[in-house]
Amino acid sequence: MQFSFQIATKVLFGRGCIAENRDEFRKLGKRAVVVTGRNSGKASGALDDIEQALKDTGVEFTVFDGIDNNPSLENVEEAGKFAAGFKPDFIVGVGGGSPLDAAKAVATLAVNDMPPEELFKNSFAVRPLPIVAVPTTAGTGSEVTPYSIITRKDLQTKMSFGNADTFPKLAFMDAAYTETLSYETTVNTAVDALSHAIEGYLSRRSTFMSDVFAVEAMALFGECLEGLLKNKIDFNLREKLLYMAMLGGMVISHTATTIVHGMGYSLTYFLDIPHGRANGLLLAEYLKFNRDAVEEKTKKVLSLLGMASIEEFRKVTDTLMGNDLQLGEEQMEQFASLAMKQKSAGYNIKRVEKQDLIKIYRASCKGV
Ligand code: FE
Repeated sequence: MQFSFQIATKVLFGRGCIAENRDEFRKLGKRAVVVTGRNSGKASGALDDIEQALKDTGVEFTVFDGIDNNPSLENVEEAGKFAAGFKPDFIVGVGGGSPLDAAKAVATLAVNDMPPEELFKNSFAVRPLPIVAVPTTAGTGSEVTPYSIITRKDLQTKMSFGNADTFPKLAFMDAAYTETLSYETTVNTAVDALSHAIEGYLSRRSTFMSDVFAVEAMALFGECLEGLLKNKIDFNLREKLLYMAMLGGMVISHTATTIVHGMGYSLTYFLDIPHGRANGLLLAEYLKFNRDAVEEKTKKVLSLLGMASIEEFRKVTDTLMGNDLQLGEEQMEQFASLAMKQKSAGYNIKRVEKQDLIKIYRASCKGV
């Protein structure tokens, strides 16, 4: 047995956790920049709660609410410049995966005057500012990972950076903030979390410790599945999903993701398919591809989800999200080439060639 395991984030979980623990903000400093998107922070009520807590504890703050979905390097550069001008002691990210990931870039760029491309070097002259993460979706797990996924228009894909200093110091997790999500977003983000658990569990980099979290996350998804399929989603279920997403984040903090994420990025970049759904469309064929290398673990995945076979897994995910995926030969060729360039391709349990990825894309299409 050999592993290292560390989560550098203090998690405060539960309804009303921000108001209850508002003094935590003050411990990080006197000035904050709150980073969010145009909608989710406000609609969820999370932004109001954060602003109130900052006012109550005498923290001066300003809000940058211009983070795009799947933020680009240009977008985080703009936010970083805005933050640098305010000279904050810490950064608060609030929203789905996009604002949380952007907050990590902003925390770095606010104190490092450098071209944003240098984020990917993962080593910075000045240590990034402390980050507080407040998720309003249950999927990304970004609140407990060091990763920041940024869209590279120049490279036509998404790329991640992150080091020990970009782990959020604090995560406030209140499932009430996920109650305003649409059914589609609830499902898609839940499937993202499931993907983190499955990819981490079957990764070349999985460990005894990361598997504990992955198994629990998959079991929770299994418990939530009927409610998701029937669109019967109460607060209890939302709390389970938020907890599950956090566990998934803890898994990939250690294992990273594998080919599902690497392949899914092109579906998002070129076809505008939401991140979680992009992963979900590929998961069944990914399981099939790897099955002979991880037979026992694959059986365990299915049994935790209450499924008898990968075919059933495919049916369930296609039902849950719908599957209208259609890809041309040239597209599959291009997407597979891009996915092969991702670090995550090397973490897949089986060695992959470009042809393997093309086969997975082809088999994942509608009606195949
Ligand atoms: Fe993801």
